[in-house]
Amino acid sequence: EVSDVPAVPEWLPGHLDADGVESLYPPQAAAVEAGVTEGESLVASIPTASGKTLIATLAMLSAVKRGGKALYIVPLRALASEKKAEFEQFEQYGVDVGVSTGNYDSDGEWLAKKDIIVATSEKVDSLVRNGAPWLAQLDCVVSDEVHLVDDPTRGPTLEVTLAKLRSRNPGLQIVALSATIGNAGELADWLDAELVDSSWRPIDLRKGVHFGQALHFDDGTQEQLSVQGNEKPTAAIVRDTLRDTVEDGETVEEGGSTLVFVNSRRNAEAAARRLANVVSPELDGDELAALADVADEIRDVSDTETSDDLADAVEKGAAFHHAGLSPGHRELVEAAFRDRLVKCVCATPTLAAGVNTPSRRVVVRDWRRYSGDAGGMQPLSVLEVHQMMGRAGRPGMDPYGEALLLASSHDELDELFERYVWADPDPVQSKLAAEPAMRTHLLATVASGFADSRETLLSFLDGTLYAAQTDEQGRLERVTDDMLAYLERNDFIERTREGDAERLTATNLGHTVSRLYLDPMSAATIIDGIADADDPSALGLYHLVSRTPDMYQLYLRSGEREQYTQIAYDHETELLGAQPSEFEESRFEDWLAALKTARLLDDWASETDEDRITDRYGVGPGDIRGKVDTAEWLLGAAESLAGERGFGNVQAIREAKKRVQYGVREELIDLADVRNVGRKRARRLYEAGIEDRDQLRNADKSVVLAALRGRERTAETVLEHAGHPNPEMAGVTPDPDAEP
Ligand code: ADP
Repeated sequence: EVSDVPAVPEWLPGHLDADGVESLYPPQAAAVEAGVTEGESLVASIPTASGKTLIATLAMLSAVKRGGKALYIVPLRALASEKKAEFEQFEQYGVDVGVSTGNYDSDGEWLAKKDIIVATSEKVDSLVRNGAPWLAQLDCVVSDEVHLVDDPTRGPTLEVTLAKLRSRNPGLQIVALSATIGNAGELADWLDAELVDSSWRPIDLRKGVHFGQALHFDDGTQEQLSVQGNEKPTAAIVRDTLRDTVEDGETVEEGGSTLVFVNSRRNAEAAARRLANVVSPELDGDELAALADVADEIRDVSDTETSDDLADAVEKGAAFHHAGLSPGHRELVEAAFRDRLVKCVCATPTLAAGVNTPSRRVVVRDWRRYSGDAGGMQPLSVLEVHQMMGRAGRPGMDPYGEALLLASSHDELDELFERYVWADPDPVQSKLAAEPAMRTHLLATVASGFADSRETLLSFLDGTLYAAQTDEQGRLERVTDDMLAYLERNDFIERTREGDAERLTATNLGHTVSRLYLDPMSAATIIDGIADADDPSALGLYHLVSRTPDMYQLYLRSGEREQYTQIAYDHETELLGAQPSEFEESRFEDWLAALKTARLLDDWASETDEDRITDRYGVGPGDIRGKVDTAEWLLGAAESLAGERGFGNVQAIREAKKRVQYGVREELIDLADVRNVGRKRARRLYEAGIEDRDQLRNADKSVVLAALRGRERTAETVLEHAGHPNPEMAGVTPDPDAEP
């Protein structure tokens, strides 16, 4: 019973009851038994959608009740806002919730007053580096999706962050939530935590493989599928799921929806287009009308091809979902799927991690994915496939969920059963000893005062999962020594002698780099590039920041090597830093790929239409946003580094940053800086003769109104933000030539 849980606020049982939670699920009860509401650390390894969030909630609210403060660490920014919205329902009881995303260079002082704080692991890491004092007051830290310590790029940050929080505050409660993994006990040992390791699910999951015209399930049963013409298996499954199950003239089970996982964005879009034609004949008039409304809302979000394609699919009851969608599109798709209007969503694996979108059936269509590093197509991990499968079945609505893989041969049928259906979950393995991670985290550990010598550094590293897992004693020491040498060579740290003892300190530059949250190698690349550049061009700067390991690059497509080699020659004098020789194949290729990224940024900063950019580079609007945000951050960092080193090009760097931030040419920077103006309106105002903020403040209202195409509300808001003395439009006649 919820009311028997010790140490939680009195209002909680009533609140949960109203929310449909009458009793605890067995793993939740086990967590309470283990003392999670009484300050015990816990590792909970349980399947997707089995109520991990409530375990975290119980722990955090009991900490808050004791007068403490809790931190909830999420793996993705998109999940931060979702979790915040979830915890905000407790504000009515006086629990203050804050979310910390965005800038990596502040100590988030305002968060000191919050009871529950939600942040990504990168953000928490940066708060530690900036010495946020309130971190010392934490009582409870929740780490969501902790199995991601296994992730080569993001895992080390999570691992080091947890180690730092614990080393500052030895009594700290850690609640680590994980998908089912093979070595949860090892994680619990590492964190000195109790363990709840369970495979219980609130709703049964039948796993199976489609082969021929039948579904083969793990319980040995088979189900025939009716197939029309030579349609693909996914189409047949989607239709089969949609139709009610009728026995003796009675509906025994209503139709449901299907979530299809594929391995690329392009495949998600193509599959949605095809499956929309399977779904639409099954819809009734009311559903079609409601879907048409959602499609309109989607078109309103932005004026791009992605937006149009998505709306076209949604009109027919299907949709695609991937990280290239803008947040507005994503929310509309997820909501329409939960409302059971959209019957089929084709998604890349991002949707499997954390976003709560259960579905009657899940089809894992592609179980291999292209991997540039490993060369060719690689099978997905068991954990990933199980997370996707775990999205099948809506508790309280479906009798059970079904998750299917697709086989094209008998051998593959056997292989898929072995590999995924029967398979035990994989163990997670620390990736900390990789060089980029060590470079970054060693500098941060020294700069933020967690270690001041090689010995204290090694003893800090001893508290990481890596140390707990490795048998190879020398490895960590060897990588540490290599990376310390690198950091010293680049003037980020200094070694000094005090008698017999050697001391490690961060230089001013090292402190700056750590606070800016840069990979030291990015900082070294940037400094090298701008050191001798008196008047760098925007393209040159965009190329420079695109070459750093902190920018996620575009790839060159076939045939683009020649094109970008030509562009490189045309702009040779603008490009900064050393250029790799054409004979160093892969380095040269990376350098050209960075040029492609730079050109995208330059197009954006030259007011090219979003739609043209998505076309030209084969990316989604969400990708443009991502690149623009990263460039803005890196150029801001470059500006600080230039200032720190006393270079004379700070102004040029700031200008390139502002241009990419607003997506405008130089002359519009001042106007675009006015709230609610943006790149398109700034251009229209400029063409109407209003060239900067001052002129806008003193502008003739009818001119502004005409420039903004007769939109009174917009004109008033814009004038108000520019500081116009009387922004109201009353008495102004709209320009008769203005478009409606
Ligand atoms: P995950 O383990 O993937 O984090 P969630 O915590 O999101 O899963 O839970 C999945 C769903 O189950 C949520 O909609 C949640 O409200 C519901 N739920 C969790 N615990 C209970 C419970 N004890 N009784 C009823 N519903 C619950």
